[in-house]
Amino acid sequence: MIKVVKFGGSSLASAEQFQKAGTIIRKDETRRYVIPSAPGKRTSKDTKVTDMLYSCYGQAILANDDCDDDHQENFESLLNQIKERYNEIIQGLSLDLSLEEDFKIIRENFTKKIGRDYAASRGEYLNGKIMAAYLGIEFIDAAEVIFFDENGNFDDVKTNEAISSRLSGVERAVIPGFYGSKPNGKIKTFSRGGSDITGSIVSKAVHADMYENWTDVSGFLIADPRIITNPKPIDVITYRELRELSYMGATVLHEEAIFPVRKEGIPINIRNTNAPEDKGTLIVEATCQKPRFVITGIAGKKDFASVTVEKAMMNGQVGFCRKMLEVFESNEIPIEHMPSGIDTLSVFVHQDEFAEKEQKVIAGIHRAVEPDVLELESDLALIAVVGRAMKTARGTSGRIFSALAHANINVKMIDQGSSELNIIIGVRNHDFEAAVKAIYDIFVTTQI
Ligand code: ASP
Repeated sequence: MIKVVKFGGSSLASAEQFQKAGTIIRKDETRRYVIPSAPGKRTSKDTKVTDMLYSCYGQAILANDDCDDDHQENFESLLNQIKERYNEIIQGLSLDLSLEEDFKIIRENFTKKIGRDYAASRGEYLNGKIMAAYLGIEFIDAAEVIFFDENGNFDDVKTNEAISSRLSGVERAVIPGFYGSKPNGKIKTFSRGGSDITGSIVSKAVHADMYENWTDVSGFLIADPRIITNPKPIDVITYRELRELSYMGATVLHEEAIFPVRKEGIPINIRNTNAPEDKGTLIVEATCQKPRFVITGIAGKKDFASVTVEKAMMNGQVGFCRKMLEVFESNEIPIEHMPSGIDTLSVFVHQDEFAEKEQKVIAGIHRAVEPDVLELESDLALIAVVGRAMKTARGTSGRIFSALAHANINVKMIDQGSSELNIIIGVRNHDFEAAVKAIYDIFVTTQI
């Protein structure tokens, strides 16, 4: 049995947090490969080490370009603050480890303007060194096993081979998250929060039985806790359900972290470093386990606009949709949803991506399909109600709409995915929170 365990920034923000992570790792000997993030925030007002590194590198560049003493001073001071954060952790863990030599190299490289990605990656690199020393296991620099091509795209084949061969025969190791290297040896990072991706890639390469992702929440919640007080956690969720929810704004895990393990059918377990006894959320390919409620989760986003065209006999015209969609394509506006009626078709887009181009789009649609009526509406919110159990449960949409009607909410749009995994509901922005609450209450609160 092999588990890959990834610890997020808040799980490794201080010596105390490191100790919690250490206890978790030592408690289960199958937790063999450890992927640390950089130290995150210790309090809500704190700054993540990754952000400190970006600022520090920015000052190094300015100091270099302008030969300016102020920037040089800022650079030195920020670098010292970063060093302090690591030294505090090392001392708090009573480790016999010095990062002096590493900081000397980092300082030189920053001065040589080695690159922003290198700068950011040092957060994970140094935390990995501390973690390896703390656990007494091998440290493997991610630059040696995670690869990008010359265009900066992740090279999964080369990486997979490198990790499997480097880790074969290595019982335990720490591999820092978030970065790898390009063929020219330059460091490249994933997008922010990318240590989740590293954990997933390593899990795939070692054929892990489980990818544990340790963070500061006990998994996914059925709804956003900023809208619902103490929402119930989601025990088990499928990759597909998760995709739907995370697309609509539910974030715990980096979206791209799903793909490598999904291909191998490796489950992900989201766990809470501060409450290790909680089971967290298990993300799986498929399951026969009956969910507790008909819906698995609710998520949503505000600020959409809709463009509705009406044209008599529209349904009978070949190519009507294509012509309409081409207008959005040529204006480079991605489309979210496209509910249609017999003589009407609406297109939902992100308001901010649409606002500047709206007049061009209107003119384009007139030219392309000569509508009888064209209507625009803005300040709309979309809510996704997601659940694998909806397929077999009768009356789900009925319950949603009667709950919304009771809450006095006008439904602007309904779109049920053909997989019956989700129902998307459009409401006005100002009804968003009340709508989420009404749906949560009908499916969860009243069922407890
Ligand atoms: N440290 C990086 C960030 O703050 C990557 C990560 O934590 O996953 O985005």
